[in-house]
Formats: sequence, C-alpha cells, structure tokens
Amino acid sequence: MADATNWVGSRLLLRRLRDVMAGEGDAQSRLDQVVTIIARDMVAEVCSIYLLRPGDILELFATEGLLKTAVHRTRLRIGEGLVGDVAAHPRSLSLDEAQDHPQFAYRPETGEEIYHSFLGVPILRGGRVRGVLTIQNQSRRNYTEEEIETLETVAMVLAELIAGSELASPNEFTAADGIALKPLRLEGARLNGGLAMGKAVIHERRTKISQVVSEDPAGELDRFDEAVQRMHRALDEMMEEVGGHRAGEEHMEVLEAYRMFAEDRGWLTRIREGIRSGLTADASVAKALSDTRARMAQIADPYLRERILDMEDLAYRLLQHLHEGENGGERRRLRKGRDTVLIARSLGPAELLDYGRGSVQAVVLEEGSATAHVSIVARALGIPVVGQVAGLLDKVEPDDFVLVDGENAAVVIRPGEDVRQTFSEGMKQSAERQAAYIAARDLPAVTRDGVEVTLNLNAGLLLDLPNLRETNAAGIGLYRTEILFMVRGQLPGVDEQTHAYRRVMDQAEGKRVVFRTLDAGGDKLLPYMPVAHEENPAMGWRAIRMTLDRPFMLRQQLRALIRAAAGRRLDVMFPMVAEVGELAAAREILDMELARARGRDETLPADIAVGCMLEVPSLLFQLPQLMTHVDFLAVGSNDLMQFLYACDRGNVAVSERYDILSAGSLRMLRDVVRAADAAGVPVSVCGEMAGRPLEAMALVGLGFRSLSMAASSIGPARLMIRGLDAGRFSGFIDALLDGNAPSLRTVLCNYARDHGLRI
Ligand code: PEP
Ligand code: MG
Repeated sequence: MADATNWVGSRLLLRRLRDVMAGEGDAQSRLDQVVTIIARDMVAEVCSIYLLRPGDILELFATEGLLKTAVHRTRLRIGEGLVGDVAAHPRSLSLDEAQDHPQFAYRPETGEEIYHSFLGVPILRGGRVRGVLTIQNQSRRNYTEEEIETLETVAMVLAELIAGSELASPNEFTAADGIALKPLRLEGARLNGGLAMGKAVIHERRTKISQVVSEDPAGELDRFDEAVQRMHRALDEMMEEVGGHRAGEEHMEVLEAYRMFAEDRGWLTRIREGIRSGLTADASVAKALSDTRARMAQIADPYLRERILDMEDLAYRLLQHLHEGENGGERRRLRKGRDTVLIARSLGPAELLDYGRGSVQAVVLEEGSATAHVSIVARALGIPVVGQVAGLLDKVEPDDFVLVDGENAAVVIRPGEDVRQTFSEGMKQSAERQAAYIAARDLPAVTRDGVEVTLNLNAGLLLDLPNLRETNAAGIGLYRTEILFMVRGQLPGVDEQTHAYRRVMDQAEGKRVVFRTLDAGGDKLLPYMPVAHEENPAMGWRAIRMTLDRPFMLRQQLRALIRAAAGRRLDVMFPMVAEVGELAAAREILDMELARARGRDETLPADIAVGCMLEVPSLLFQLPQLMTHVDFLAVGSNDLMQFLYACDRGNVAVSERYDILSAGSLRMLRDVVRAADAAGVPVSVCGEMAGRPLEAMALVGLGFRSLSMAASSIGPARLMIRGLDAGRFSGFIDALLDGNAPSLRTVLCNYARDHGLRI
C-alpha cells in the first residue's frame, strides 16, 4: 500500500475528480476534463475511458492523448484487444510494450501506435465490469505498484461518479429492449428441491454511495469502526434470535463461521487503508467489494468462492450499517409479500434471514452451490433454491411472475397462462403425493409378502434430525460428519465435536445413528487444511487416506464419538476404504481411544458397531476377508459406481453414459449381498440410488433389506415397498441378470407399471 506521501497525492487527485464530476457542464464535457486531470496527475501522455455499452461492447467515451475523432467510434468487444482483455478477466494489466502483447489490436483511428507502455484497470461496480480506464506513455516504462493502485482507486471512484450521472442511464446498461419481455425458461443447479411460484423481488444490495472522497480520513475511520461494532452487535443479535429456534443449530454454525469472517483482520485492514488514502468509509468498503469480486472471477475452488461470497455479503452489510449510522436507523427487516421469489446474484445466509420467515417462497441465484451457506439455511426453512442460472439478473424484471422448479433446477420467467396452469397442477399433485406419504408415514415398510425393509435417513446437519420424526425413518444410516468440519472456519476440537455428536444422538431419541468419520478431501475441501493441487481429487488424498495419515484428526473424532455415546450404542463407519488393512488400522485407533477412555474412567459406549463403506472396487475382491473385520457394511454407490465405470460422478458429459441398472452392476451388487448374507454381516446401500424408487425396487429384488436416503425419498420408497411382492420380483430380476443388458431400466419400469407401483 502507498506510503503517507502517496496517500496525500491520491487524496488530492480524488478530490479534483469529485469536484469536476459534481461541477457544471454536460456529462461528456466532465468526462473529458476527468481524463485530462488523470493524465496530468499520473504523468501519462494518454488517459482514456471506455464504457460498457449494450451487447458487451466497450466504447471509447473520452480520451486525452488519442485522436478525439476516435471517441464514440472506437468500439471493442469484451476480450478484444488489451482493453477488452482487461474487462474480460477483469484485472489490471501493466505492460512496458503493449504491441508485444498477443491481445494487442491496432486501431488506426486512435493514433495510438506511438505509445508503448500501457496500464489498464477495470471500472467495476457492484462486482460487474462497467468499463476500462487506461493510461499510456510513449516511453517504455514499468508502472509501479503505487501507480497501479492509484489508477484502481481512481477507477473505483469513477465507477461511482459515472453511475450517478446520465452517462449510465439504466436503458444503456441493461439487456436489449424487447428480449427481456418474453417468457423464458432458464436452467441452473438444484440447490434445494421443491416447487414454488411468486413475484420476482430483486435482492437489492445497498451500493449507492453518496460521497466517495473524504475530507476527514480520521473521522471516517471512526465512523467505520463504529459501523463494524454495530455490525458485530447485530450479528450477535441475529444469532441469539435464530439460536432459540428448534432447528437453529445449523444456522448457528453457519452464522458463527460467518461472524468469524466479520472479524477478518486482513480484510478490515485493507478497508482502513483505503480510507487513509482518501476514500470515504463507504467507498473503501465498496472498493474492497469490487476487489473481492474481481478476485473471485479467478478462483475455481468452489469452497473458496463461497467464502468470498460471505465476504461480499458482509461488505454489503457493512455498507448498510454505515448508512444506518447516518440515519440512526435500526437493523433492517425486509418484509415483502408472502409470494416473493427472491432473485439475486448471490445471497448470504444472514441476508435470507433478513426477509423474515414465511415471506420468501423460493430463491433463484446467478451463483451459489449446494454447500453454500445460504443453501444450508434455505434447506432448514424448506425453501426451494435454484442456483447457477447464467445471466439471471439481466433477464428478470421486478414483479415478473416466476415459476421455480427446484427438483429439475429450472426457472420459468413470465410464463404463459398454459405453462402456469400446468405448473400449478404439478404443485397440486406434488402436494397430494406429500399428503399420501404423510398418511403412510406410520405404516411399516413391509412388502406384500412380508419382507421388512429398513428405511434410514442420510443426514449431515443437526437440522436434518427432525426429519427422523417427520418421515418415521428407522434411524440414520449415514451421518456425514464432514459437513460439521466444512461449515466451520477451523478444525473443530474434541469438545466441540463431542457436543455436536451428543446433540445428534439426543435428537435421534434412541434411534440408531451411523456416524461416518471425516470424508474430507476430493471436492469437500476444508479451508483450514490446505492440500496440494491434485489431478484427480476424487481418487486423491481424501477420507480415510487423509485421516490415517493425520491420525490426530481421526483420534480426536473417535474420542469425541466415544464421549458423545457414553452409555449408549455407537455406530461408526469408515469411508473410502480400499484395503482391508486400512480398516484394520482405523479399528486399532478406535481401540486405542477406547483404552484411553477406559484408563480415564470415562463412561464407555454401551455397545460399539464398526462398519465399512464399500466405495472402492478393490474391496469387491476382498469381501470374505473384509467381513471378518466389520460389524456392518454400507454400499456407497455414488463413489462405487463412479470408480467401477471410471466415470466422474459430477461430470455431465459422461454422467448419462452408463446405467447403474445394467446387468453387470446389478450382478456385482447381488454378489455383495450374497457375501454379506453368507457372513451374517448386515449390509445397506446409502448412495443416491437407494433413494430413487426404481433403483430401490431393484435393490430390494437383489436382496438388500436396508436402504438409507434423503428425507424426501422415504415416503416414495415406503409406498413402493408396500406395493411390491419381493419374492416374485426377486425371481424376475434374477433372470435378467444373466444377460449383458447395458440397461434394465425400461424392463424394470414396465414391471413397476404392470404391478401398479409408483416409481
Ligand atoms: C457414496 O459415495 O455413495 C456416499 C454415500 O458417500 P458420499 O456421497 O458422501 O461421497
Ligand atoms: Mg462416497
């Protein structure tokens, strides 16, 4: 960051710019003055401003140094030329010889051939590129860090000034007229299921900044510190409010992690430095926000992107508190009508809670992922969420009617009457189906011929626990403990883990809970455990491989599980085991922890069952040996099938290529049941296939008597099982397995239809 002399210089420049923009004359003449001031101040022969026009075109709006006749004539697409390159990434670009750069695009009308060095910075506002600001020099020179930083700050100030002028009338910066008014179907990613409809409310984040340049940095610093205090208090209040709610614990976890970001020193320091360099507190927060956004564009890691989204949410929240400080306002409560479909680029968990319970019917996001904090909170509130909808904000207008199909990750904007009717019908049928599941909730999952199938839940958060009662599932067949590790900003200690597992067992009210030890790594990254870049993370340093290499993690987790179970039954299983030896090593660690607890006179679990997940095909060839080491087995079909077919479970290009309902894979599963039955080891399936009625039917036909699935699948599975004759169907499916059919899906569908089973 700049030293004190530079701050003074940059303050003067910012002040001059502000005076010009606030002064007399039309917008064009003010921009013309702005480029002259910047060029003079930065000792550059050229300063140019390119602004974004509809159609992603960057148009030269003002220049000092280039030929004036090029103004409004020179236009570049995003990605075209150096200016387009700066906008595309978006990031600053400093070159001592512009013409050597592969992206250099010569524009004869500008007369720029005599200039060699080039510095371009994006003009960002609200995280979006609004234009590019450049300076150029005839001599070949390297621009210094301070110069780059100063031009970035100037660009930030310009963004605000331009937004407040007629240069950025909304018509100029939104999608081309006409297109936006037609009905549109958009697809995204399913972040939470369910169907809903309502009117679009565009989630407004306060970015309007009344003053950009400050006269009194010390006063601004005080104002900023007070706002930070107020924000912390408000977050504490929110946590207290939410903490009282029955299923509030995950909100708490999420909000606690979030609260930690609010105290991130580096972030706060950067904002304070911006204030010292002459920005108002609001402008400096907004600059931090733009920087964050720009950084985000470079980051592929989904976990880090989410954390950056949290920072972004905090920046908006901070702006709100700065504003409220001025008005003496209270924490806002946004209460919209009860038919709100919230439209946002991204949304923080606390922002969703700001709307109050019951008003938001669905959320649609341009960004977002299934493990994003807002998705976790939305799941707790039962709100469908569709994320990753490209170009959403350019396509939806406030008050547009919107249909949200969380199941199929689709959104229809401004639907025609017929589509709306069909959707309403779909919602009605879905409600009827739900009613049928609820009516059958207390009936046993027993086939027509008396075969009982245990239906368990998959869970990973305390807030999933109420589903045990709501679905009347037998227990929890898979508790993914990694989620506890993922929503926190640091490795949870033994006490914290003990507390969490104890609460899970308490809330399960005596029903069995199978805890799976940490399955981190792969795509489930822990922010506090940096891992080397891996070519194939799904096959890399993850799950039991990681915890056996870092035994303290496994020891701590097992210690916590033993303590949480004290006097109760403990079921624990290990993920991604590829060799029987790995399971034996994990068991040894468990025995060590049991001995330790015994030595300390702690109350031990009343009973312990140790299980192994079958997710790696190598284990298929060690089944008899494996059986002697385990009390139960759980087939993780998601991973098992991905490795069996060498087919990435998250890659849409190959995900439809193979059918797990093929004769080959079903034969493999039948062999697993047979081996387990022969050894008297209970076996279940807890991958996604167990939760799909047709696949679940096939599994029952193969001999599986225990399935574990998401809460929403229990009802359909129960009804399917109650309609099935297991003995007859086993004979039917067995006969199909002798062949080589790549898919038995149609045959099985026909069977289900012919026997009146809803699948
Ligand atoms: C599986 O692989 O099937 C499984 C249940 O584990 P996860 O989906 O958590 O990898
Ligand atoms: Mg798995």
